[in-house]
Amino acid sequence: MKRPAEPGIFHRIEDALGPYIEQHPKSRDILELFGGLIALERESMGDLDVALPKDIDVEGLLEKGFPVLGRSGLPVDMGSAKKLFATIVEKMASANVVLEGACRKVAKGVEDGFLDFEGLAGEFLREDFDAIKEAAAEADADPWVLMVFIRAALGPSIAAASEIAARLLPDEGWHELFCPVCGSRPAVAVHSKEGEGRRDALCSLCAHAWRIDRISCAFCNTKEQKNIRYFHVEDDAARRVYLCDECKSYLKVFEERDLPEWLEPILEDLVTPHLDEAAEGEGYLRPAPRLLGI
Ligand SMILES: [Zn+2]
Ligand SMILES: [Zn+2]
Repeated sequence: MKRPAEPGIFHRIEDALGPYIEQHPKSRDILELFGGLIALERESMGDLDVALPKDIDVEGLLEKGFPVLGRSGLPVDMGSAKKLFATIVEKMASANVVLEGACRKVAKGVEDGFLDFEGLAGEFLREDFDAIKEAAAEADADPWVLMVFIRAALGPSIAAASEIAARLLPDEGWHELFCPVCGSRPAVAVHSKEGEGRRDALCSLCAHAWRIDRISCAFCNTKEQKNIRYFHVEDDAARRVYLCDECKSYLKVFEERDLPEWLEPILEDLVTPHLDEAAEGEGYLRPAPRLLGI
């Protein structure tokens, strides 16, 4: 069950970066930072060695409502990820002055033995984020920078595993609110122009897209319409925020038919922080992180 790793998702994002920077100059910094990481991730796909466990019972797992791999079951090429982590720490130092200092501290933390990539990667996959924060504090490193770098270093393995697993999934039959590949919750969703009334969730970890119900809350599954509403900013009805009053969560949803054809939901998420601020300002929370890991 092994296929050569394909840099598909990274190419897709890199292709969309130019138009996004042009259309959203206010988000230039975050887009360029993300673009820098994506380029390094794509380059490291070349020497990646990722395979799914043998004899995996895809149908049986899905039937029982389990994801094919689960977050901690994602196969990781640890050698390649470790190398990429070192490359990221070295190259991202030249992105800007703030990152230069932050990268120096991470590099020193690694050198002094406070930051062990394999241990941190395991903690990340087990969602033990407190342990990562503790390690960052010990090394006097920025926990946000450390988290983003760990996530990016694991990115090629996660993308490759997700890509291989996605080919084993049946077209229909998965109705859960978490990703059928890795079990993570949606980062954002898209109202697709293909198929009337179709809502596709984008996994917050592996970027797999799967169909979810359009009229229910994507997090608590309530169908009580009086508890679900959406808003958008004036003159921008294509970028919506769905609010749920039962679980107090929100989900950003993009209308594919009203957005340019280079719509890339991962980048759409990065250029719409004003929607997060508005939803959070009203007391709603985002249950899953952005694809960048924040
Ligand atoms: Zn996933
Ligand atoms: Zn809800």
